[in-house]
Amino acid sequence: MTANGGRIIFQGADLFDGENALRSGVNVVVEGQRIDSVGEAPVEAGPDDRVVDLSGKTLMPGMFSCHFHTGFGTTATQGGAPVLGLEAPAAYFGILGARNLSTALQCGITGIIGSSNPYNLDVCLKEAMVLGQLEGPRLLACTQEFVTSGEQADGTNRSWFMDLNNHGLIRRVDGADGYRQATREALGAGCDIVKISSAPGHGSSPISDICYMTRDELDAVVEVARKQGKRVRSHCPSRTAILECARAGVDIIDHADRIDSEGIDAVLEADASITPSLLWSTRFLAFAESWDHSAGAFPIGDGFPENLPDTLERLRGVREDFEYTCKILPEVVKSGVRLLLGDDFGFPMMPHGDYVSEMEVYTELGIPAQTVLQWATKNGAEAMGRGDDLGTVDEGKLADLLVIDGDPIANLPILRDPAKMPAIMQEGRFVRDNLR
Ligand SMILES: [Zn+2]
Repeated sequence: MTANGGRIIFQGADLFDGENALRSGVNVVVEGQRIDSVGEAPVEAGPDDRVVDLSGKTLMPGMFSCHFHTGFGTTATQGGAPVLGLEAPAAYFGILGARNLSTALQCGITGIIGSSNPYNLDVCLKEAMVLGQLEGPRLLACTQEFVTSGEQADGTNRSWFMDLNNHGLIRRVDGADGYRQATREALGAGCDIVKISSAPGHGSSPISDICYMTRDELDAVVEVARKQGKRVRSHCPSRTAILECARAGVDIIDHADRIDSEGIDAVLEADASITPSLLWSTRFLAFAESWDHSAGAFPIGDGFPENLPDTLERLRGVREDFEYTCKILPEVVKSGVRLLLGDDFGFPMMPHGDYVSEMEVYTELGIPAQTVLQWATKNGAEAMGRGDDLGTVDEGKLADLLVIDGDPIANLPILRDPAKMPAIMQEGRFVRDNLR
């Protein structure tokens, strides 16, 4: 709203409503925190209203990033290596997380579903935003990553730094009772979504067709989360794990590499969502496949020492997994599964802020930009459980809106340019306003 409490009248916009093709000449009125009306009929302005001419500009919903690691980024102690656990003091992670949220908001992301993070970082950041100490997207705070003993990166061996004293990125949990307790503690600490790890892969190693967790462990997490109205997401890049997690009621299937038609059906049946997160795989393979192995060992391993043929075999396996996913993803889209954006931003090869690059991976697979923008808006809101209130430009919804100088469906890369995003609005209040 305006300083005098008047309405904001966006006039003559090209509207991307979060779902349908661009519609020209639309007037959208924002009153207080909400969208008061959307339509072609002329709107009469009162003395306190502000009229904004949007001819030639697109109005669209704020975007959602649904796999977001607030604590990923470069720390002073780590140089270029990824931050996964306790490589820096908690205070440093707080600063990093605040900066990552601010970066996302300035890119037009007004909603985030967190993924694993150390030090209960997401909850702290969320509380800081509620108290007005920090400006950022609305956030579903995630837990650490719950992993079963003995799995890759369980913290007992080579990935010790992820686990230290259970403050790091992961928390080791076993048995249904263990999962119940860990989930209750994390929800009690303020988390909104529990992250579990059910299969290896979608990293630097090939996929194994297993589910680490037993069915009673999966059921325990989902039951406790559901009772409190909370959600569960799972690192889930295997055929078996996709089936087990979807059938247990997991809300977000992360990555879903090696999904097949049975998996698609199970995800549809469960009304779960999928975050493919293919930018990570794209960037990892580009780095790995251009590596000069004669000059030195490839620096990203799976923790154990390996000789060159094993390294090459491992990288070939990752390539095969990736090719499979690229081939099946258009089928997943066609099936009607709810797909989401979000990736492992903060790794050295993919800094926070580079969010449009993930969208471009999907359009390069032939998925229309309009569909990808629906993942970024309507689908994100639904995955957050806020489909009634957010994600599309409709009467009565909260006014989380972006103004784009151009047509992002025809020209997705313009979303990268802050100068082409003259306005960002959250709940009726401008976070950026270069429209005057
Ligand atoms: Zn991740």
